[in-house]
Amino acid sequence: MARLAQTAGLTDVQEEIISTVRDFVDKEIIPHAQALEHADEYPTDIVEGMKEMGLFGLTIPEEFGGLGESLLTYALVVEQIARGWMSVSGVINTHFIVAHMIKQHGTPEQKQHYLPKMATGEIRGSFSMSEPDLGSDVAAIKTRAKKDGDDYVIDGAKMWLTNGGSSNLIALLVKTDEGADKAHKNLTTFLIDKEPGFGEVAPGLTIPGKIDKMGYKGVDTTEAVFADYRVGADKILGGASGKGFAHMMDGVEVGRVNVAARACGIAIRAFELAIEYAQQRKTFGKQIADHQAIAFKLAEMATKVEAAHLMMVNAARLKDSGERNDVEAGMAKYLASEYCAEVTQESFRIHGGYGYSKEYEIERLMREAPFLLIGEGTSEIQKTIISRGLLREYKARG
Ligand SMILES: Cc1cc2nc3c(=O)[nH]c(=O)nc-3n(C[C@H](O)[C@H](O)[C@H](O)COP(=O)(O)OP(=O)(O)OC[C@H]3O[C@@H](n4cnc5c(N)ncnc54)[C@H](O)[C@@H]3O)c2cc1C
Repeated sequence: MARLAQTAGLTDVQEEIISTVRDFVDKEIIPHAQALEHADEYPTDIVEGMKEMGLFGLTIPEEFGGLGESLLTYALVVEQIARGWMSVSGVINTHFIVAHMIKQHGTPEQKQHYLPKMATGEIRGSFSMSEPDLGSDVAAIKTRAKKDGDDYVIDGAKMWLTNGGSSNLIALLVKTDEGADKAHKNLTTFLIDKEPGFGEVAPGLTIPGKIDKMGYKGVDTTEAVFADYRVGADKILGGASGKGFAHMMDGVEVGRVNVAARACGIAIRAFELAIEYAQQRKTFGKQIADHQAIAFKLAEMATKVEAAHLMMVNAARLKDSGERNDVEAGMAKYLASEYCAEVTQESFRIHGGYGYSKEYEIERLMREAPFLLIGEGTSEIQKTIISRGLLREYKARG
């Protein structure tokens, strides 16, 4: 699609990366996405293709064997991939967040150990904050790490680990006992090595199996159960306990730009499908695009795609400039995910009865879009973050 979701001011390298990924999506993802998704099959060949393109190391610094690209480049790549099939972007997203956390907060030894292998995709990351009893209320985490000599012993249950089965590294947020008065200062991130797969993947760590989901299929989402799991203090991210909340919030800030980018990708695809179908389907003697009601839907959908894309790009550029982007990432994630749900719904309506058939791509997009309203913080949580940030900024005097 030539016109929508263009980004001004990209470097030649960025342009080349995006165009390579767009070709890959058109040739290797879109033709296979429906079948793989309906079969809930892991996209092994596609993942191998992404490894070859260096996408697992896209944002990892060159000194560690990555491509050293920005969050913006990453987000534009994710937008393209999600346009093909959102699950594929899920495969790289938790990996990217964990690599970001290690790059920003890891000890020199942790960077040296993990980042080169993460750049090639040999080590693949998942990240775990959520538990069966909590998602939004991160500070209420119950999974606990107790100090025992030089080690820690972890007990508790985690929920909703994207790539929980296929990864061999989990960035795990647990409660530790720093004794601080604020709950979020008693949290620590551990880097947990494990075997990929299901069952007991390390002594004291069980990944029970895949959660059967409404959409976002192919990529595995799992629980993780820790029972007397022993880990050395050298596996604490950054070496010091009590800093996990800040690590994870940094991770989700880039994660929110990524979710916004996914929403843009799905919305672009939903629009592409709608505008094509609207020029083929005829009712009352003319193509449905010639009914003003349908043409106006297309205009509204395209405007939403543009707005979401621009906000997502703005949030990514802000983070790349070194600024905090909590408010802008929250706004981008909130707007893009809500617009994505609206645009897919309109595309579905334009497809008439065929939109309800599993033969049509829009049926899949309709099941994917709702996840974006929830993942990396719900719309309500984004509004909390946005309003808090604004009230801080616009504090009334007197
Ligand atoms: C497919 C999938 C993949 C996921 N992958 C991961 C992952 O890789 N790692 C990970 O850690 N987590 C992951 N999650 C978990 C996800 O981040 C949480 O589901 C999400 O943060 C919401 O938490 P919750 O489900 O516990 O909902 P709750 O926090 O229980 O919220 C329930 C409802 O109450 C609302 N609500 C809650 N608190 C407030 C408030 N203060 N004000 C107003 N409204 C409020 C929410 O907006 C929501 O509508 C995944 C989830 C899914 C579905």
